[in-house]
Amino acid sequence: MQMETSFAYIDENYQQIIYEMEEAKAKYRRPSDAITLMAVTKTVAPEAVNHAIDCGVRVLGENRVQEYLSKKDFYAPQAQVHFIGHLQTNKVKYIIEDMALIHSVDSVHLAAEIDRYAARVQKTQNILIEVNVGGEASKSGVSPDRLEDLLLEVGQMPHIRVKGLMTIPPAEGNEKFLSKMQQLYLDISSKKMDNIDMEILSMGMSGDYAAAIRYGSTMVRIGTALFGVRTYL
Ligand SMILES: *Cc1c(COP(=O)(O)O)cnc(C)c1O
Repeated sequence: MQMETSFAYIDENYQQIIYEMEEAKAKYRRPSDAITLMAVTKTVAPEAVNHAIDCGVRVLGENRVQEYLSKKDFYAPQAQVHFIGHLQTNKVKYIIEDMALIHSVDSVHLAAEIDRYAARVQKTQNILIEVNVGGEASKSGVSPDRLEDLLLEVGQMPHIRVKGLMTIPPAEGNEKFLSKMQQLYLDISSKKMDNIDMEILSMGMSGDYAAAIRYGSTMVRIGTALFGVRTYL
């Protein structure tokens, strides 16, 4: 007998996430604030990703270049694709044309490579700067005290536009770091640096998205809470 794959759990999860996002927004934010739900697709089959798009998801988050390249042709076209994983400079050329936003820029070296390839394909690449707000050795991201210098350099690059900041805060003491990140975002915003827009604060995952909304997130990146626990094959 042929089994019909059921994605009903994705509908339920999606409704639950939207409900909790709305609840956090009603409590802590202005009604006019827009908060985007990104579906993080790592290890998830394209059919399941497309079901999330059917539910209303309009932004996909990709972590791995190879995995993205193997899945991209199967994705429904209504969603934009963002890159959120650690990006090696030698892989920039494979994704530059497809990405509406690259969240994980944390060095001049990587930014320069993105700028170079963006020029080649005649686009201005929107990026976020990833901040290692907890100062954890295991995580990517620029340290908060080097953020402004990095922004000054990246602000000079003609084919890059900085749209905001991204972070993966520590689980331990989570709220303190969400708050610190919000403060950094507001500080940079008030400095009105050349070619630097603070429109997007990409912060919050399955375990902390409601708290992240409390501290000013404009985009939450959700994998597990939407698609279930990841199974690595
Ligand atoms: C995997 C991942 C997420 C989603 O994590 P979940 O806890 O499964 O929601 C968000 N952001 C980045 C950068 C990730 O790698």
